[in-house]
Amino acid sequence: MAEVLVYVDHVDGAVRKPTLELLTLARRIGEPVAVALGAGAEATAPALAEHGAVKVLTADAPEFADYLVVPKVDALQAAYEAVSPAAVLVPSSAEGKEIAARLAVRIGSGIITDAVDLEAGDEGPVATQSAFAASFTTKSRVSKGTPVITVKPNSAAVEAAPAAGTVEALSVSFGELATGTKVVARTPRESTGRPELTEAAIVVSGGRGVNGAENFSIIEALADSLGAAVGASRAAVDAGWYPHSNQVGQTGKSVSPQLYIASGISGAIQHRAGMQTSKTIVAINKDAEAPIFELVDYGIVGDLFDVVPQLTQEIQSR
Ligand code: FAD
Repeated sequence: MAEVLVYVDHVDGAVRKPTLELLTLARRIGEPVAVALGAGAEATAPALAEHGAVKVLTADAPEFADYLVVPKVDALQAAYEAVSPAAVLVPSSAEGKEIAARLAVRIGSGIITDAVDLEAGDEGPVATQSAFAASFTTKSRVSKGTPVITVKPNSAAVEAAPAAGTVEALSVSFGELATGTKVVARTPRESTGRPELTEAAIVVSGGRGVNGAENFSIIEALADSLGAAVGASRAAVDAGWYPHSNQVGQTGKSVSPQLYIASGISGAIQHRAGMQTSKTIVAINKDAEAPIFELVDYGIVGDLFDVVPQLTQEIQSR
């Protein structure tokens, strides 16, 4: 069976959920070979093996932490040359997309970004993407070289599938560009205790209708009752009510959770661009004509100050 390279996103050996989802998708098209880089790379092996990785290629060097993406591209290219895979899968984070794009250029391959599903095809893997505010679903395949595909978080359910997960050291030699851009400072964000926005299974977002920074506490209370992340529209962010790191949309983050709850958000195209691939969409808006109702699975016409606390209370009482 053909091997499929899976780029591992991890923090000090703790594998992030989108990588486990990639392993599920990789098994549909071949045998997953994981590539884990940087501090804690070897510690990722048990989790990767549990989810289907037949092999885990690891490399650690100061370059991975001290410089931006190029050293990682050098390593992924080394893995590509060692394995000659049928496809390369990378999580669709900002960093993942840059790594994938640079690799595709280097190996002369086509690339598909932000896939939301993946299946085997007669002429190579077929990726599903969502376009124009979820108005269209497109299926495409790479027609040149080895397909390089980035996949959005929450595109597949994580499935356990124990495999060998044999750890092998990957030999990497860094090119001239590897040390071209140095990291000068890292500032950890204050933890809210909530899941990361782009990885959360549930996102509760607030918009201009929330009408003030202090009122976001009702959005947060609903989010906490569901174990969800909090998102915000640009209008709420521009008003200074919530941090830009929580903005969902074209100029914010793309999310694709199982459940997206939009409160006091009108549903502008730029907002939809960041949440249209959510599996189930619920909107709470007092205007029955708000465009957000065109794309929802469940719509509640009402004042969010009445509806959201009631929802929170109901969920908490269960
Ligand atoms: P509004 O459009 O003002 O909608 C507020 C909604 O709240 C209304 O529908 C209203 O009926 C409802 N409401 C009011 N009070 C209540 C209440 N008490 N209870 C229930 N409902 C209530 N936007 C993004 O979100 N993300 C982006 O990344 C983004 N990028 C952009 C990039 C560009 C280049 C441009 C031009 C725009 C971008 N925008 C983005 C802005 C976008 O066009 C909209 O202006 C923005 O999404 C509107 O935010 P909103 O829905 O919160 O506000």
